[in-house]
Amino acid sequence: MPLRLPPCLLQHLPARLWAWLLAAACLVGAGTSSASPPASGFDALGQASNLALDDPRAAESHTRRRLAASRAAGDADTAFWLQLALVDLMILTDREADSRRELVAARALMSSAPSAQRQRLWLEFYERFARTGPVALPEFRREQAAAREAARMAGDEALLCALDVHDAVLQIELDAVDEAWVALESVDRCAVKLGEPALRAYALGAMGPLAGRVGAKDQPQAFFQRALAALGDLPTRFKRAWLLEDLGWAQLKAGDTAAAKQSFKQALALSTEIADVSGVMRGNEGLAEVMLRRREAAAALSHARAALAQAAAHEGLRFRKVTAQTQVVEALALQGGPELAAEIDRLRAMEALDPTARTGALIARAAATGLRALGRHEPAYAELERYIELTAADERSQREHDAQRLQARYDAVRREAENEALRHSAEVARLELQARSERQRGLWALVGALGLALVGGGAYFARALHHRRQLAELALRDELTGAPNRRAVLAFAREEFAVTRRLNQPLTIALLDLDHFKHFNDTHGHATGDRVLEAFARAAACVVRGQDRVGRWGGEEWLLVMPGTRAVEMPAVFDRLRQALAAQAVPGLPAPHGVTFSMGVAERHAAHDSVEALIAEADHHVYRAKAQGRDLLCAAPLPGMREAGPQAAG
Ligand code: GH3
Ligand code: MG
Ligand code: MG
Repeated sequence: MPLRLPPCLLQHLPARLWAWLLAAACLVGAGTSSASPPASGFDALGQASNLALDDPRAAESHTRRRLAASRAAGDADTAFWLQLALVDLMILTDREADSRRELVAARALMSSAPSAQRQRLWLEFYERFARTGPVALPEFRREQAAAREAARMAGDEALLCALDVHDAVLQIELDAVDEAWVALESVDRCAVKLGEPALRAYALGAMGPLAGRVGAKDQPQAFFQRALAALGDLPTRFKRAWLLEDLGWAQLKAGDTAAAKQSFKQALALSTEIADVSGVMRGNEGLAEVMLRRREAAAALSHARAALAQAAAHEGLRFRKVTAQTQVVEALALQGGPELAAEIDRLRAMEALDPTARTGALIARAAATGLRALGRHEPAYAELERYIELTAADERSQREHDAQRLQARYDAVRREAENEALRHSAEVARLELQARSERQRGLWALVGALGLALVGGGAYFARALHHRRQLAELALRDELTGAPNRRAVLAFAREEFAVTRRLNQPLTIALLDLDHFKHFNDTHGHATGDRVLEAFARAAACVVRGQDRVGRWGGEEWLLVMPGTRAVEMPAVFDRLRQALAAQAVPGLPAPHGVTFSMGVAERHAAHDSVEALIAEADHHVYRAKAQGRDLLCAAPLPGMREAGPQAAG
């Protein structure tokens, strides 16, 4: 069993996703057809980004030419968006310093044109992600919340979708697979809505590696194939090459070397066409791996050598070089050859390029194979020992890494519970968040460092991780009330639905909608409306138990998820919540404030095939409660169940 891991699926996924993230974010800007005439204004950004999916280098020179032309023609608006497209391109091709330079240039081009506001929103979006150095969490939260709000106000669905993409990438990074899945589904939906096949391909491609872990019906291969199908015959060679490689590694993992060979060959052909050095190396590496599996040494050797030839003129691509050299040694060990000893020495010298346990293990193992083939059993044995030692070290660091991730996840859940207990005042919650952010900085520095070792990436990745960590926080929380947001509470509901169904335990959910909320807004102002929402969140936090969850479903609607609870128990919950809400002071409203809510309840039974069906039923009962005069609980009639309200509850 070769130690070599599929680079696409395991080692380079995060770094790559990060690059795609910005490409994808940008993609939401415009139609994917590059056959259309040069776009102006905002569309120029999406169009340039789409060109990059076909050929980043060509896209860059094209964009620079168009930028010069727009400036010459005095079209400041188009010039601005093209300049922003260059930022995106720099990020896609891993040129961090250049991306910051292009950002400065973009800011200088901001105009007072009609699209000035949109320009500012998008520029700030990119600036947040190209920023280096630590950012205070509360400040970051504010900025992000403001960005969402501004995008909503401006009706900029593309920007909202871009923010969704960030959420998805972040969850993947945190290894929060269920949340990541939910987020990617949401990206998929907005891609369809915006008519963006390339963005769809991004979502599907990112789902592939998660498929096995979330228990999806389909194999990872199916997702990569679907992603490729989504691209159809759009000119997207760069993106297709990546997807084909992912597909190839998934096929290899499934033992289908014939299919894998086909996929890598296609990927290689595309990368060669657009002269993408890294892509050509990766394609050859995939093919060499296929040949090694088939014990076709000569073919493996020629692909590994082709990969190395590509890398010769390049400073970077270190991990790639090491991998290709191990393939040279393994192929020579299979077929024998006078140059084997020299190639082993060359391989061992590469250890300095990437001094991580993983790379060391990779080198030691291939060296052992080579030395044994040379009949040099003693040094072969020594290398084998080194391999075992380094593998253990790598596994240890991997385990630590996993443990950190798990802990981060666990913390998020536990903190939510703690917060709910603590959230008697917004101030307490705010301080708590701040303290946690300080406490976790050290922890995350460690995760970042280990992540780096994993991808063999650079500081760029660590920074991305830092940002994403902050986003993870945001991705699960409602900005205003600090309660779990729709995504978080829905993920929780889904999970509980599956678990309670498997264990045949009760699950009851409730949708709650504040009564005449618009009236409070209209009479006392939106800010007071916000205080009402905060008061409700505090009241709900007092009422739910440890295993329950209440999240903001949207606007003034809330979803309550109660595993282990029957519908007949809900009138008591309703009463407790009414009392807790009545007891909350609401700044801006006289006491008693008179805020009430209507509640629709649904309990899981065999006929519910999804949590959505359960929620739909609860929604129906909210509607009934409203129709019957509000401040009421409604549910399907059950033996022993009373519908509650001022009258019923007495
Ligand atoms: P009903 O009793 O039938 O539910 O009436 P309602 O007025 O509560 O319902 P409606 O859906 O007409 O109005 C909901 C209002 O909630 C409209 C929207 O402006 C307001 N809203 C949504 N989100 C927020 C928010 O974050 N803050 C504030 N202050 N208001 C919000
Ligand atoms: Mg409503
Ligand atoms: Mg309402």
